[in-house]
Amino acid sequence: MLFGAHVSPAGGPANAVHRGEERHCEAIQIFNQSPRAWRGRLYTDEEVAAFRAALAASPVKACVIHAIYLLNCASEDPEIRNKSREALTLALQAGAELGALGVVLHPGSAKQSDPAKAIRRAGETIRAALAQSEGCELHLENTAGAGGTLGRSVEELAALHEAIGVEQRVGICLDSCHLFASGYDLRRPGVMSALHRDLERLIGRGAVRSLHLNDSQAPLGSNRDRHANLGAGELGVEGLRNFVHERGLQRLPCILETPGARREGASAAEVDLARKIHAQAR
Ligand SMILES: [Zn+2]
Ligand SMILES: [Zn+2]
Repeated sequence: MLFGAHVSPAGGPANAVHRGEERHCEAIQIFNQSPRAWRGRLYTDEEVAAFRAALAASPVKACVIHAIYLLNCASEDPEIRNKSREALTLALQAGAELGALGVVLHPGSAKQSDPAKAIRRAGETIRAALAQSEGCELHLENTAGAGGTLGRSVEELAALHEAIGVEQRVGICLDSCHLFASGYDLRRPGVMSALHRDLERLIGRGAVRSLHLNDSQAPLGSNRDRHANLGAGELGVEGLRNFVHERGLQRLPCILETPGARREGASAAEVDLARKIHAQAR
């Protein structure tokens, strides 16, 4: 498993590789644009070359891009859907430039509208972004299930995957905190294996392509998305261990998005702790 952390690409994506090294990462996750603004851009040739050179000389082996949170591919508002499609296309193109493993996306929110129709809208928007880009996968992330967010269950992820209708380029990113908040009690033996089996049955073998390893401040089934540092939340070491021990997920990037001791994100010590938890016997 390639353990790593979400890091800042401030100053250019090559700097994210160095920040990953400082944090003992073998995989990193970055935003491809400012998370607070719609407007983005592609990388320059110099930025791409510097990134690729940094990666080639680094213990960091893999990079995933997280699409910014402003996107709502399922919005009822056609203008929001348009902006979401454009931003997602850009993220996929940026991912192809960097050779990223994939773009992680929160599938969207139905808000007050009918979830089945929202899934159809998300499917159309995402399919269009995929058609306007090539060479980079899309990973739909499961959500905590707050406020009409789509992707709160295995069934909903499968419905979204089907609505997109693009088989191979679309996979799943599983977040341990979101699973727990949406009602999957990963502390109990067998729960992780059962949900992974269901995902492979409904979506196909190798459906899961990346992982987010976070503890949860909020209780089981609370639908609240509140990340906690590893071992300091409701999920605990036991639940985290069941998550990272799942067979068939052992070669994937496993990214920490924890607040960190001083709200600066995961430290080298916490990435090391993830490896330690993974090395523990059941
Ligand atoms: Zn996540
Ligand atoms: Zn989250």
